[in-house]
This record gives sequence, C-alpha cells and structure tokens, in this order.
Amino acid sequence: MLKGKVAIVTGSTSGIGLGIARAFAAQGADVALNSFMQDQESDRLVAALGREFGVRSIFIKADMSKPADIYAMVQSAEKQLGKVDILVNNAGVQHVQPIVDFPAEKWDLVISTNLSAAFHSTKAALPGMKARRFGRIINIASAHGLVASAFKSAYVAAKHGMVGLTKVTALEVAEEGITCNAICPGYVWTPLVEKQIPDQAKAHGMTPEQVIKDVLLAHQPTKKFATVEEMGALACFLASDLAASVTGTAIPVDGGWTAH
Ligand code: NAD
Repeated sequence: MLKGKVAIVTGSTSGIGLGIARAFAAQGADVALNSFMQDQESDRLVAALGREFGVRSIFIKADMSKPADIYAMVQSAEKQLGKVDILVNNAGVQHVQPIVDFPAEKWDLVISTNLSAAFHSTKAALPGMKARRFGRIINIASAHGLVASAFKSAYVAAKHGMVGLTKVTALEVAEEGITCNAICPGYVWTPLVEKQIPDQAKAHGMTPEQVIKDVLLAHQPTKKFATVEEMGALACFLASDLAASVTGTAIPVDGGWTAH
C-alpha cells in the first residue's frame, strides 16, 4: 500500500504514465500528473483520479525538454503536496528515421525529453528524499535501453543512457533509504506506439499491418503487446517498502524480447 506517499509521474496524461499514476492512486498515493500541455482532458483526468480513488491529485504543466520547467515542477509538487516520495521519469518521445536523414533538432528533442529530463528531475527531487531518508525513483527506460533497433538512434541512445543514469543514482544514494530502478518495457499498446507505425512503414517499405506483425511483435516472443496495467503493478512494487533492496536494476517487461 502506498497510503501517505506522494508521487510525481512525468508525461502522465496518456499511456504508461497514466497507467502508473492510476495504479499508485489505487494504492492510496497522492499523485501529481504532468504533461507539457494543460487542457480539458488533463483537467478531467486529474479530477477523475481524485474522485475514483479518494486521493489528492494535481496537474503540473511542465515541458520535460526544458530544465527550468522541471525544477519548477518538483518545487510545485513539494509545495502543493508537501513532499515527493516517488518520482517516475516517464515522459518520452520517439522519432524513427535512418541516421543519415535524422534531423539534428529531433536528436536534441529526444535526448532532452527522454534522458536529460530524468537527470534534472532526479537532481531536483533528491534533496527532499535525502532529508526524509526515503525515496523511490523509477525511470521508464525501454527494451531499447538494453538492445538496439535500426532507425531509432536518438531513442536507443537516450534509453541506454537512462539505464546508466539509473545505476549511478542508485549507487550515490544507496545508504539513504532511496532506490532507483529502470523499467524496460517491450512494446506496450499506447499512443506512442500507434503513432510510429506510419513512419516505420515508410522506413521499412511495409504496410502498417506488416509493421505490427513483422517489426514490432517480431521481437516479442509472447506475440502480445504488454499493458499499462502491467507497468503500473511493477511500479507499485518498486515504490513499496518491500522493494528496499531492489536498486540499480533495469527490469525488462518485454514478453521475452531481451532473452534472445
Ligand atoms: P505516450 O505518447 O502515450 O505518452 C507520453 C506522455 O509523455 C504523454 O502524456 C505526453 O503528453 C508526455 N510528454 C511528451 N513529451 C513531453 C514533454 N516534453 N514534457 C512533458 N510531457 C511530455 O507514450 P507511452 O507509450 O506511454 O510512453 C511512455 C514512456 O514509456 C516513454 O518514455 C517511452 O519511451 C516508454 N516506453 C514505451 C513503450 C511502448 O511500447 N509504449 C515501450 C518502451 C518504453
């Protein structure tokens, strides 16, 4: 149970982040949702969390590609909810193109959103966690943090970097009641995956149906997309008191992909 705990989940108005935020709230945690855009949908999601699970829920608008926004987000969560016990670095973007055609500004966007953001939010959240001698940092990396695929240079570099950052964070705070772990999902059916299918089809010269069968699920021995609920369940365990000795890990949830 996570009652009495406060969590920030970045990029949590959709997909895996929303699944994890809902799982935390279901276990009684107060939750700060985040995205770079506040709209009717984000307001509706925050209100629904509070209503459904009886927890405090807030929305903090912050662009994870902008360090100043990230420091302000952590400060705002500490101010509005009193502390940050659990930080989930989940916000992420994808761009799929061969390296020779890969626009430099897309490289910068993917690295800043998927990797540098986790450094800045960790740096911002650690002082409070150290003072309270409790913290759980969960980095949503990817199977692409452990193995590579063609046409995803920035994403694979960022996710491998995130696994490295996870290990360094874990080592630096190991004696202070703080853990840091990476979850490495294979393909999970979310808007991020749905949106990359047309680009993948173009890059591979395939139909969208062929991309799903022969590119995405070709890697996943279970031949099934993982679910956001599965990610939520693992995040709840990693956030719990009983996961105190699990730190510095990169845990695949990939239907056996990285067992190859
Ligand atoms: P999604 O597109 O459904 O959700 C991404 C979320 O991040 C959205 O809420 C979006 O608003 C937010 N976001 C994007 N850029 C942002 C920014 N600059 N600032 C703040 N918020 C921002 O994606 P998803 O599939 O749920 O992916 C979530 C994470 O899981 C990503 O880091 C992704 O790399 C990782 N992941 C996903 C899969 C998968 O198969 N879906 C597999 C492995 C890893």
